[in-house]
Amino acid sequence: MKIQKILTLRGPNYWSIRRQKLIVMRLDLEDLAEKPSNTIPGFYEGIIKVLPSLDNHFCSPGVRGGFLSRVKEGTMMGHIIEHVALELQEMAGMLVGFGRTRETATPGVYQVVFEYIDEQAGRYAARAAVRLCQSIVSTGTYSQSELEQDIKDLEDLGRDAALGPSTEAIVKEAEARGIPWLPLSARSMIQLGYGVNQKRIQATLSNRSGILAVELACDKEGTKQILRDSGVPVPRGTVVHYLDELKDAIADVGSYPIVIKPLNGNHGRGITIDIRDWEESQKAYDIAKEVSRAVIVERYYAGFDHRVLVINGKVAAVAQRIPAHVIGDGHSTVQELIDQTNLDPHRGDGHDNVLTRIIVDETSLDVLERQGYSLDSVLKKGATSYLRATANLSTGGIAVDRTNDIHPDNIWIAERAAKIIGLDIAGIDIVTADITKPLREVDGVIVEVNAAPGFRMHVCPSQGLPRNVAAPVLDMLFPPGKPHRIPIISITGTNGKTTTTRLIAHIYKQTGQVIGYTTTDGIYIGEHLVEKGDTTGPQSAQVILKDPTVEVAVLETARGGILRSGLAFESCDVGVILNVSPDHLGIGDIDTIEQLAHLKGVVAESVSPYGYAILNADDPLVSAMVEKVKGHVAFFSMNPENELLQNHIRQGGLAAVYENGYLSIIRGDWTLRIEEAVHLPVTMGGMAPFMIANALAASLAAFAQGVTIEAIRAGLTTFRASVAQTPGRMNLFNLGHFHALVDYAHNVASYEALGSFVCNWPGERVGIVGGPGDRRDEDFINLGKLAAKIFNRIIVKEDEDRRGRPSGDAAELIRKGILLENPQSNYEVILNEEEAVNKGLDEAVSGGLVVILPETVSGAFRLIEARHPIAENAFQA
Ligand code: ATP
Ligand code: ATP
Ligand code: MG
Ligand code: MG
Repeated sequence: MKIQKILTLRGPNYWSIRRQKLIVMRLDLEDLAEKPSNTIPGFYEGIIKVLPSLDNHFCSPGVRGGFLSRVKEGTMMGHIIEHVALELQEMAGMLVGFGRTRETATPGVYQVVFEYIDEQAGRYAARAAVRLCQSIVSTGTYSQSELEQDIKDLEDLGRDAALGPSTEAIVKEAEARGIPWLPLSARSMIQLGYGVNQKRIQATLSNRSGILAVELACDKEGTKQILRDSGVPVPRGTVVHYLDELKDAIADVGSYPIVIKPLNGNHGRGITIDIRDWEESQKAYDIAKEVSRAVIVERYYAGFDHRVLVINGKVAAVAQRIPAHVIGDGHSTVQELIDQTNLDPHRGDGHDNVLTRIIVDETSLDVLERQGYSLDSVLKKGATSYLRATANLSTGGIAVDRTNDIHPDNIWIAERAAKIIGLDIAGIDIVTADITKPLREVDGVIVEVNAAPGFRMHVCPSQGLPRNVAAPVLDMLFPPGKPHRIPIISITGTNGKTTTTRLIAHIYKQTGQVIGYTTTDGIYIGEHLVEKGDTTGPQSAQVILKDPTVEVAVLETARGGILRSGLAFESCDVGVILNVSPDHLGIGDIDTIEQLAHLKGVVAESVSPYGYAILNADDPLVSAMVEKVKGHVAFFSMNPENELLQNHIRQGGLAAVYENGYLSIIRGDWTLRIEEAVHLPVTMGGMAPFMIANALAASLAAFAQGVTIEAIRAGLTTFRASVAQTPGRMNLFNLGHFHALVDYAHNVASYEALGSFVCNWPGERVGIVGGPGDRRDEDFINLGKLAAKIFNRIIVKEDEDRRGRPSGDAAELIRKGILLENPQSNYEVILNEEEAVNKGLDEAVSGGLVVILPETVSGAFRLIEARHPIAENAFQA
């Protein structure tokens, strides 16, 4: 077997709209192409031994063991690899279920599609599944140690890519609210929402967390001072820089017990609490000094450690934190109890799990000693032995939810403290003997205020109710009624995408909003070019969706990007599908026009339930997409009698038609006239029917989003795509007594479109035609036939780069086509393109049109420029 290609899909795609994270592996089965599993000796026995858990895969039989029974009866290796790739991920703790395997047009080559949670792990699973199956085919088995290594690698990949617990909680809540999110490329930042309505978080810092507040919170002494000045209870204490100041400081604080901690510290590092004499104080001073230049000396407040989480001015949760400890069972030693405690699957290393494992180090030995224990002591049943003096979760502590128990006075104090420091999300550390009583009554204090407080102790407390503390964060960032998205308008089809995208963007600009749009020519925001190039894929779309100024996104969505990685967005507000005609067939395993329609249909299917799919009623492959649309549908047609459109209107639907020379929008009984086609420069004086169709689609897209008819009219009558912006796309030049048109038509539908315009030209029509040598013979013959139909006079020329064809060959085929269509045709053959173009232009008659299908548009422009055209587009006055 050989893997030919692995694609990673990240949005709605050809295979599924809902399952967006998919791996697509193109796999050549080679010698296994003709061998279903039942004909491979020992395969079934081998696979059930290596992966017995495949028994859980129901597959098409729909029952436990369903998939394995298919392996027994005989199924193709691609299908087996799909299930193995899913199973490997499951075994590594990543829950996935969706898979599909399809033959391609190339015999023996399959597309194996399956879900992933993490991209890297998904790609790894693809390769591992092939390796595993190949090994069973060749040796009857796959070594246990290799399988274990695969699972371990997958787990590592999954863990490395996983979001931190706080970020994950926020992102999950966003998903539940339908708020889109995307990771940004730096500093673990996450974008919530799109465009101008986006917000950002980084763990539990939000874009509203002020730098002054965060820095104040990080300065423990400053925080205490500010709080003390406001009458908030804080520990009595002072800061020392040198050992010889320590004695006085302790006296200042008011004698033992005391706490010594680094001025700049976190996670409990360098802290010693409950210090009772001078000797301990000196030791504690040295420990704190290792972490920070200055050291805090504080009175020790007996009590329990609490974390009060304040979000947007309100207490969201309260947790009591208990330092790492073990409880005796009457026969185990402390060490044994620690080992048992650490077996808890909730305990991991650092912050990667709900709890952290207890580690034994010098600090814990000290703490044990103070309690009169050692690691070998056997604890009495029910006796508690602490292994840490401080309650940080990151040193093995646990958290107990106390949200319902906190005294209202303490709520008020915590909320006020958060406000005084200025933090939108604050973790207030309170030491008190009893959180249910006012701090003042029991001599409780706020020891610290934390910026970016962790959420995991509230989301997954060891005891008590989990609290959804992500909800108030999202309530704060997106209060009720505040939008998180921007309208997304996605345009697809075989021809006319760029023109329609530009038209929609231009119409929208009339509303005064900032429009971000992507096209074959580049990414634009407002009037500015962001990046040049073919930018019709999801990455370019994301540039728009990530931009904090963009109010409306208009995205040309070409087939390549959908195939390569799926759409950039989960759903769009308007999906425009212009047409589907044969083009690029055979590329990317899209071999038939039906498959092509299915691919473009992804845009129609991704229209949100509140949005509109704008469908071409004149194109049966497009209008059939109505079946898949979850939102509303609006049809456009060049034919007012179109039956589908008429039915749709009768049912009160929205539509746009070209009727009596006018573009109109019809809604129910009402016809809203937009404008006469001749007044739209893009329609070339009303002579280019396909451009009228594009304008109808664009008008509907805008109208469906609430843009007024007046704005649509203003947009349509002022839209001009300059030659510089869209070279080779219906570029018409006024050369005084005649016109020249340069177009880079590249498929049958666009030749026909061009023809539909040329035939409307009132004067003489001259065509200078030819095409790249890699087209099929029949394409040249068809081009000849078409040319004979639309031109009064034809000059056949040849591209310089003949792509392997002998000179004159293509021209001969075109000539054949011309004569087949009309033996009386007026034509000549001039192989050199420059000569042919110059001759055509030299001999042009008054009122005539010379149409050039050039090898390169720049070459044709040069020859035209030399003749000093009056205007670039006669209809763009
Ligand atoms: P973290 O990063 O986890 O918040 P930290 O290194 O910032 O820890 P502090 O919050 O100042 O350190 O102290 C850690 C813990 O030590 C407190 O939560 C509390 O349990 C205890 N502690 C600190 N100061 C005092 C004090 N004056 N009296 C009693 N206990 C204290
Ligand atoms: P590409 O796939 O190359 O990006 P596109 O779909 O963006 O093309 P445009 O750039 O708008 O299409 O137009 C390309 C050419 O297709 C035009 O010059 C014209 O000849 C033709 N064309 C434009 N609109 C239509 C249409 N609605 N139907 C058929 N042909 C069209
Ligand atoms: Mg703290
Ligand atoms: Mg385009």
